[in-house]
Amino acid sequence: MKRSLFIFTFLLSLGMFAQKAYLHCGKLIDTEKGKVLTNKTVIVDGNQIMAVENGFSKVPSDAVAIDLKDKTVMPGLIDMHVHIEGETNPGKYLEPFTLNEADVAFNAAEIAERTLMAGFTTVRDLGGSGVNVALRNAVAKGKVRGPRIFTAEKALGTTGGHADPTNGRKRELMGDPGPKEGVVNGVDDARKAVRQRYKNGADWIKITATGGVLSVAKSGQNPQFTEEEILAITTTAKEYGMQVAAHAHGDEGMQRAVRNGVKTIEHGTLMSETTMDLMKEKNAYYVPTITAGKFVAAKAKIKGYYPEIIVPKALEIGPKIQDTFRKAYKRGVGIAFGTDAGVFPHGENGKEFGYMVEVGMSPMETIRSATVTNAELLGMKDNLGKLKKGYLADIIAVNDDPTENISTMENVVFVMKEGKIFKR
Ligand SMILES: [Zn+2]
Repeated sequence: MKRSLFIFTFLLSLGMFAQKAYLHCGKLIDTEKGKVLTNKTVIVDGNQIMAVENGFSKVPSDAVAIDLKDKTVMPGLIDMHVHIEGETNPGKYLEPFTLNEADVAFNAAEIAERTLMAGFTTVRDLGGSGVNVALRNAVAKGKVRGPRIFTAEKALGTTGGHADPTNGRKRELMGDPGPKEGVVNGVDDARKAVRQRYKNGADWIKITATGGVLSVAKSGQNPQFTEEEILAITTTAKEYGMQVAAHAHGDEGMQRAVRNGVKTIEHGTLMSETTMDLMKEKNAYYVPTITAGKFVAAKAKIKGYYPEIIVPKALEIGPKIQDTFRKAYKRGVGIAFGTDAGVFPHGENGKEFGYMVEVGMSPMETIRSATVTNAELLGMKDNLGKLKKGYLADIIAVNDDPTENISTMENVVFVMKEGKIFKR
């Protein structure tokens, strides 16, 4: 309480926003050139960066000085795969029967703030119930403290597939969900499901191209959409100004997705070299989610944490992701930083950096992936991902230089979003 009061007073003293700020940065990461620069001043006015100057510029009387001389400063981070509405716990599978929409919303608001405090100023939310759309709007209006959200609303699956919301239920509770609920069988359903997402306010479309680990179903990797269905989804999405992300563990479903115009492959566990080459050819990106893979493999060893049908899938698939990432990166597949936070506790998104570095990506490349690459994929390349004149003032800082100590990315100590300070 005391601490939040202090922060509140501090923010009041800053006027919250619309006041000029001079950030004196001991080190600054130039994500465009991939370089660590020293002694720079970032000048922020309103929600934008006005200039980046050499040395520690003199602070005029109408501006606030922010001392980050012993920190490393960089653009706000972007996570391309989170589930902002919820979080792993052993009672997760009961939640559809125990939580009201309002409960989900309050949980999501807390998760959003935690995500922002971890330095992630933008996220792509890849599936929930629709609360994600309301949360996006509330954050954008400044009513809830959280990252900027691009959301897929409800993920699309097929009957019995990974995103069928009634898997594992007894028959009278199964019903027969259709495109309105995000369950697709055939090309007409596929088009309707996309149009319904558009109507509901989605920014992206997410499909579950193969089985998944955490659904109450046997296969974690079988293909679950026909090529015709995927093509109907990607073409309809394009007509409505959206792109498509595909959850995929098995190679066949992954290949169908890439061949038919999906922009990002999530998890990509059993990706073959053929699929890697196809992704390069089609300019599709790989979102690895290594942190989630490691988390589910560890929790599967605790009896009762997951329903029994999930355990063998988690043990088999979880540990493979990091090695697939190593191969795909080495082969030149474009990498978009993404974690699947929600499958593991939100706020720990920064662990992914270390896991990527462990198997061969340089720290600078991981940061570029979480900034410039992701900004471009989200259609925000002229607004996000760089500390540059005219860009939105999404700025974070860590204690150490991540090119020397990548684990510092797990402890973000300063967060500014659109010129407002949220953490100091
Ligand atoms: Zn996910």
